[in-house]
Amino acid sequence: MATDRVRIFTLDQVETCKAPLKIWSVECLPGYTDPLTDESANHAVTIIRRIAPWLERIVFSPEIIDQGDKISGIYIPRCETICLSLWPSPPTILIAACHEAWHAIEERLSEDMIAAVDRDLGPAFFDGAPYFGNPEERRARAFETWCGRLLEGMPGRFMKSQHADAVGIDEIFAAAWSGQLGVALS
Ligand SMILES: [Zn+2]
Repeated sequence: MATDRVRIFTLDQVETCKAPLKIWSVECLPGYTDPLTDESANHAVTIIRRIAPWLERIVFSPEIIDQGDKISGIYIPRCETICLSLWPSPPTILIAACHEAWHAIEERLSEDMIAAVDRDLGPAFFDGAPYFGNPEERRARAFETWCGRLLEGMPGRFMKSQHADAVGIDEIFAAAWSGQLGVALS
């Protein structure tokens, strides 16, 4: 059923808000959703709650504008909030959920774990615009790609650590995806 309401999910409840919502520089604009998109939004909430269970809020909006740019999602550390846009395709909403959840979980990861991810990531995702060279974005994109394989039902893992004696990227990503890290870091 179409709705003109922005939907706000909190950890224990679902709230709705008819007015445009502004969180820092991020503006969530009201609009319409459809049942398929609603289903993806609910799935995205499940993923985010599992990966980063301490988050205060998950906000969905048909459009999210950050400093004039239309974006698919953003993690706002100061208020522990993830905002996701509903305009991309349903699978892309889930990928964005994984990406932003990684940004949230990375704030609580040890330097050793982040270094292990960087070490195994190597040159992947390094080419292109400055956005892709940003280490935080590279790791978030690696995680969303890793999760995307699971979401699409593809077997196997994204990459194999070159350092068999140490905890590697697959173990860290798997612990994040399963919620094991989220519990440990809460
Ligand atoms: Zn990002």
